Amino acid sequence: MANKATGRRRFLATLGMGGLYYTVRGAFAQELVLTPAQTLGPFYPDRLPLDLDNDLLVINDAITPGVGEIAWVSGRVLDRRGQPVRGALVEIWQTDNNGAYIHTASPITNRDRNFQGYGKFLTGSSGEYLFRTVKPGIYPGRTRHIHFAITAPGEPRFVTQLYVRGESLNANDGVLNGIRDTAQRDSVIVPWVGVPGSRIGELAALFDIVLGFTPVENAASSRPTLVSMGGVVHAGTLNPGAASGSWVALFGDNLASVTRSWRASDIANGKLPESLEGVSVRINNKPAFVQYVSPKQLNVLAPADSASGSVPVTVTNAGGSSDPVAVDFQVFQPGFFLLPQEYVAAVHADGAVVGPAGLIDGLRTLPAQPGEQVILFGTGFGPTSPATPAGEVVLDAAPLANPVTLRIDTVAVDFAFAGVSGVGLYQFNVTVPDLPDGDHAVTAEIAGVRTAKIARIRITHAV
Ligand code: FE
Repeated sequence: MANKATGRRRFLATLGMGGLYYTVRGAFAQELVLTPAQTLGPFYPDRLPLDLDNDLLVINDAITPGVGEIAWVSGRVLDRRGQPVRGALVEIWQTDNNGAYIHTASPITNRDRNFQGYGKFLTGSSGEYLFRTVKPGIYPGRTRHIHFAITAPGEPRFVTQLYVRGESLNANDGVLNGIRDTAQRDSVIVPWVGVPGSRIGELAALFDIVLGFTPVENAASSRPTLVSMGGVVHAGTLNPGAASGSWVALFGDNLASVTRSWRASDIANGKLPESLEGVSVRINNKPAFVQYVSPKQLNVLAPADSASGSVPVTVTNAGGSSDPVAVDFQVFQPGFFLLPQEYVAAVHADGAVVGPAGLIDGLRTLPAQPGEQVILFGTGFGPTSPATPAGEVVLDAAPLANPVTLRIDTVAVDFAFAGVSGVGLYQFNVTVPDLPDGDHAVTAEIAGVRTAKIARIRITHAV
């Protein structure tokens, strides 16, 4: 037990909790090539699918996935200096394996009803996005492409398209060859490479999107401000919202004058601090527990609250109180903590982090093996039985009060424990199913709510 706790603490230290949302890539030295704008085209969905998440392969909890070559399309949204853009809404829409859009005017009409055709993703502070989809099919007049629309905070919507390197039709595509600048044109044609070891032939395409703006620094003011859209997010998925008794990250300006996490001395008699360095947060007019403060980011544990829907959130420090922002508050808002490239935060029984080798600089990461037990971490999975009081140090692990379904790919996995093991920290001791080598989507569902963003896990049979 002591071992497990130590492992977990080390794990959280690795993640940084304060710097949970770090990026491992270095700063850019050279001038970046701006991603060229391209036409929206006629097929932006005129009716949206029932599911709008970043997993286009599966609609809601359907058992039958879309057909085609599975592809993980990911990258970062950057400003012209190469700084990641947080809170950017990335939308994609594309044809299915047959070349059909979900649009009513799609030139090809034998549409794959299991393919989502459209998805969206809100970037976190690393600027990263991820979609699981299929390689787009071809329709008359165009080469293979995926449409992208990126809406960064305070910026107009930016529209472009992504292509497949080596596709012979690229040479004749009018939209692609309409990009006059060679470097810009090359920047939207990326290799779609096989995921190492994937026995089902999954592809991965990496597409960084460089937007042509530089964020304007806010005018000096000592009063704290919260980003009005997407400024208060689930600490795992970084999707807007806050869940009862779970970790929440807040983004803004002048939030604190110093940067630090809580220390043992901040926790008196097992009670978590409602203020750190003079910074406090109220969610639905109840105090949150402040774990980390910095000028632009705070991490807090939301108070226990049965509220459901829009609630006000404010930050108060020596400079005053922020204007309230409206945040969607729920008892259940399940999501996993994520490592770079949207890999699920998970450890092996010995505490080593689960992931493809080289995922995190300076840290040994190993894929999961079928049959082994790994521990996944998340937040927002609701109450436990017995109850875990919010605002107090967790002394004993407590199982979830509601049934949970955990899936890796479409397999409902066996688990030995699902519950709270630390402050706002939910852990799942799951047995890795026997799936083909490669990346697989990890999802969970509790009280009818599915994890809002897919995470992935790398599985390998090799020792
Ligand atoms: Fe198109």
